[in-house]
Amino acid sequence: MADALLGPAEIRELAARLGVAPTKKLGQNFLHDPNTIRRIVAAAALRPDDVALEVGPGLGSLTLGLVGAVRHVHAVEIDPALAAALPGTVTAAHLTVHPADALRVTGDRFDPAPTMLVANLPYNVAVPVVLHLLAELPTLRGGLVMVQKEVADRLTAGPGSKVYGVPSVKLAWYAEARPAGKVPPAVFWPVPNVDSGLVAFTRREPPSDIPRAAVFAVVDAAFAQRRKTLRAALAGWAGGPDRAESVLRAAGVSPQARGESLTVGEFAAIAAEAQQQGY
Ligand code: SAM
Repeated sequence: MADALLGPAEIRELAARLGVAPTKKLGQNFLHDPNTIRRIVAAAALRPDDVALEVGPGLGSLTLGLVGAVRHVHAVEIDPALAAALPGTVTAAHLTVHPADALRVTGDRFDPAPTMLVANLPYNVAVPVVLHLLAELPTLRGGLVMVQKEVADRLTAGPGSKVYGVPSVKLAWYAEARPAGKVPPAVFWPVPNVDSGLVAFTRREPPSDIPRAAVFAVVDAAFAQRRKTLRAALAGWAGGPDRAESVLRAAGVSPQARGESLTVGEFAAIAAEAQQQGY
């Protein structure tokens, strides 16, 4: 990594010079620990020909690590002042700054096409951002994101776990996810009151050719009432408990099971069966 990384003194100086007052609303907690940056970049297992997509570059801590590791970096920042200041901090020619909301970006704006998502995400929108980008950018082969520790646990949970839920199943539709370590609050400014966790993921083929929206509708219905059996939880979605039971049985899933025990493949089987029965 040729570029100098930002430590606490540099972050303080940069923030003061730019007049940055971090806001909670935008999840602005900036990394000021070069070791954490090196850890994130190493955990991302980037290839020199990768094109990294960073959401929320902020003051540029992680961006500086990324430009030394890949062929191009796209940095999407919603805060116009931070986006405007970034090229002054990260002078690499292979950086493109996008002053934009990551929840609304579309694939056509990125050239070259991103292959890896690497980001210290704004925690309040972390899950929708990851799901939106995986849906929008088929060229993403994987990623490494930092999120609130509880969210990292949910994103990487498997069926049967207490924290397995909608984010776990939806991410599993696109990718295999695994925990890649914990990060303490002290490496951020301002210091957040939560621990953070790293999540690594690798894209895989969707488990079914049933449209994603149809599968996600079943997932949303099943977890909207996660304590209920699927027969009851899916009654509204199927048009009655008996119809839900018939779809579940035909899909090979027990009507007495709960959503928290199902794999993404089983959710897809339920959606496929509903489609077959004309729902
Ligand atoms: N990457 C920097 C670091 O590690 O120091 C900053 C990370 S900070 C947790 C999150 C960043 O995301 C902030 O710079 C914030 O302005 C930006 N942000 C918040 N919501 C966003 C959105 N919807 N789209 C793009 N950027 C966003």
